[in-house]
Amino acid sequence: MNITGSARLVGVLGWPVAHSLSPRLHGYWLERHKIDGAYVPLPVKPEDFAQALAALPALGFAGANVTLPHKAAALDLADSVDVAARRVGAANTLLFTADAKIEAFNTDGYGFIENLRDGAGLSAVANGPAVVLGAGGAARPVVAALLDAGAPQVRVVNRTKARAEALASDLSGGPGGEIVAVGWDERASALEEASILVNATVLGMRGSEPLELDLGKLPKQAVVNDLVYAPLETDLLKRAAVRGNPTLDGLGMLLYQARPGFLAWFGIEPEITPELRRFVLAGSRA
Ligand code: NAP
Repeated sequence: MNITGSARLVGVLGWPVAHSLSPRLHGYWLERHKIDGAYVPLPVKPEDFAQALAALPALGFAGANVTLPHKAAALDLADSVDVAARRVGAANTLLFTADAKIEAFNTDGYGFIENLRDGAGLSAVANGPAVVLGAGGAARPVVAALLDAGAPQVRVVNRTKARAEALASDLSGGPGGEIVAVGWDERASALEEASILVNATVLGMRGSEPLELDLGKLPKQAVVNDLVYAPLETDLLKRAAVRGNPTLDGLGMLLYQARPGFLAWFGIEPEITPELRRFVLAGSRA
């Protein structure tokens, strides 16, 4: 990396942030496009977030990504919020305007859908019900994106059913299919006639419990997308591939969600390539 005194600066605010793959990902694109800029990790404690965020435009930053636990706080502190971020109640991408205003976006749903389009095509979405395991921060943009892409029904299966019901109530009411909240004990039967299954829980992630799910009722043509990316090849993806289901790993969404931010900050729409995947993976423990 070689930058000048007029380099454009962007960072990722999180706590912790050391595990984030975003600096490596954006660093690759900056290098590839020979851009005079830098993308840096910004470890910021929750209690310091408002002060740290307010300082960034003053320091000349062009924008930032926001990761856990700051995604909801970023939305509250922004001067303007796009439809996607407002709908899911969280922002992951910020753009600072020339007059130091903070514009907030959420690109997770875009990342999910573009990765699906690229890896399996979008026909699966309209062909039948989608099943989303989980009702947390990752599930919300995925459910919204599935509805926007024409899913006739989204079954949200969550350990805490009340959280699935809250998600359904928050995201229902717009155009598109219905959201059905399903209890965790019904997860195997919820797979019946599904055309896509998304794991948006932490289960199967390194250090978390395994995902126990009988795939017997899942149609063989259903696309299985695990959002967990550490490990990259989860037990769910292995079992789905053995029975012939098309599979998508969690890295793809992570790469695609970064694209709109890079375009907004640096003016170039970067490509998602196999080389990029290899480069980013080499920097993770996946
Ligand atoms: P979160 O908001 O904390 O939600 C966690 C979800 O996991 C909740 O639905 C929770 O259910 C469920 N869960 C936790 N422990 C469970 C257990 N023992 N049994 C059943 N369900 C359990 O986390 P998140 O931000 O949504 O992240 C979820 C996953 O998505 C993580 O693995 C994360 O790495 C991944 N992710 C990937 C991307 C990507 O770009 N690929 C982006 C964002 C997140 P309860 O509601 O009952 O607690």
